[in-house]
This record gives sequence, structure tokens and C-alpha cells, in this order.
Amino acid sequence: MSVRPSTPASTSIASHARSPANAVTPALIDTHVHTDDDRFDTDRDDILDAARTNHVIAQVVPAISRVLWPRVKQLCSDHSDLFACYGLHPCFCGDHVMGDIEELGSWLAREHPVAVGECGLDYQVAGGDKAIQQRLFAAQLSLAREFNLPVVIHARKAVEDVIRMIRASGHSKGVVHSFNGSSQQAQRLIDLGYKLSFGGAVTFNRAKRLRELFATLPLEAILLETDAPDQPDTLHNGLRNEPAYLSDVWQNLSQLRDEAPADIALATTRNAIDLFRLPINIDEHGCI
Ligand SMILES: [Zn+2]
Repeated sequence: MSVRPSTPASTSIASHARSPANAVTPALIDTHVHTDDDRFDTDRDDILDAARTNHVIAQVVPAISRVLWPRVKQLCSDHSDLFACYGLHPCFCGDHVMGDIEELGSWLAREHPVAVGECGLDYQVAGGDKAIQQRLFAAQLSLAREFNLPVVIHARKAVEDVIRMIRASGHSKGVVHSFNGSSQQAQRLIDLGYKLSFGGAVTFNRAKRLRELFATLPLEAILLETDAPDQPDTLHNGLRNEPAYLSDVWQNLSQLRDEAPADIALATTRNAIDLFRLPINIDEHGCI
């Protein structure tokens, strides 16, 4: 299938990657996907195979509460392209106790995850427990700093407080996933050393403001994600989301920017490898 039959076999993959016909999708990394979720229990292996077929070479899987850490650990030890993070998600504050923070410290020391998370603030669900969310988030920022790990942040209707708490923590490495703040907030997070991750929500035409923001951010600040099984892109609206659909997210979002889609794949994949220190080598064309 080489577009240039005379090309030596050793470089044929690279020539495919540069093919304008989009013959080969460069490697992509799903930087936020809950592959451990119950909704994948019946067909998880198929879902993982579909992701690989669609050029998703790695998945970062954040665990959201202490009882689920072992499940994510097992999944990621069963699959060498899945990478675990451990954290306490703000939407499940009722499940967390402060003792979980101490236990999290033990897990970080023992299990060597690629990040701390998912943690953060969600004021849409906060009700009366804003203070608890903030205590848990501050403690996780502090652990991330202690272990020199990036932090995977959930911020819903709370970006301003997330920025304030990141600044107070002195921790300068992480990602705000499914970013939904203003361009000014995006710039402040980038100035603090953080990446911003985007997924299916930004593929909808109605997400005009976020689509404009995605178009203008520096490429080195961007990651791609699915957040599967939640937040499907416009092609899979109403369906269970899957990591395989990251290639659709990438194609949709690439239309918003001036760079070639292959260059956007390459840059976002490199950003993910660098941030999470993933043991993956890709060449200059985004191929492994
Ligand atoms: Zn999540």
C-alpha cells in the first residue's frame, strides 16, 4: 500500500504518515479514559482492540476513588498500553475519608503511577461539601508535588478556584481535563505549567467558544482525550463513548487549526508522552 513503491521498506511507514490521502493515522494517546468503568465489563477486550486498531497507542486511566484503585491497577498491569493514575474524584466526596489521603501516599510510593488523579473541584455537584472537595484537592496537589507527579484535574464550574489552589500549592505539572474555562483562564493555567485536554464536547458546533479557544492555543499546551465512556463526540452522540473514537475527535478538532492533522497528532502525542513520562518512542512522523 506504499504510495511510493520505490521507497525502501524501512521508511514506508513514514511515507504513509506524510501521505495527503490520510492513508495512515499517526499515533494518538487517549490522555483521559475510564477503561475500568463497569460499562465496559461485557466487551472490554474488544474495546481495547478497537482503540489499538484506531491508532490509540496508549491510554491514561485515572481511578476515581480508593475502592477502585485495585481495579485500575489490575487493568493496567494486564495491558502494557494502559497507564494508571490514582486519586479521589470530587464528585464522589461522600465515598472519601481523609484517611484515603494517607493510603494514596502509600499507593504512589509503591505503585509508581503516571499521575495523581483524578482529583479537582466540581461545584456543579458540590452542594455543601465545597470545603471537603478543597481539602482533598489540596492534599492531592501536595502529594503530587511530593512525588513529582503530574496531576490530572477535573474542574467543573470551579476553574477559578482550581487556578488559585494550583498556585497556592506551588505544583507546576499537570493537566486540566475536558477544559471548559475562558481563554484568559487557559492562559493562566499554561503560565503555571499546565496542559489543557480536549475531547468530544468540543466537537459539537454548539461548543463555539471552546472551538475558538482550541483553535488559538499553543500546540504544546494541548492534549486529546475521550473521557470514555462519557462525553461522546458528535459522531457518537447518545452512545457509550470509547477510546477508539479518539481518532474522530482528533480529525474533528484538527479542522479548527492551521497545522496539518498529522502535525497535531504528533504534537499532542509527544505532549502526553512528556507530561506522563510514558515509556513510548515515536519517530518524527508520529509512528511507533
Ligand atoms: Zn474522568
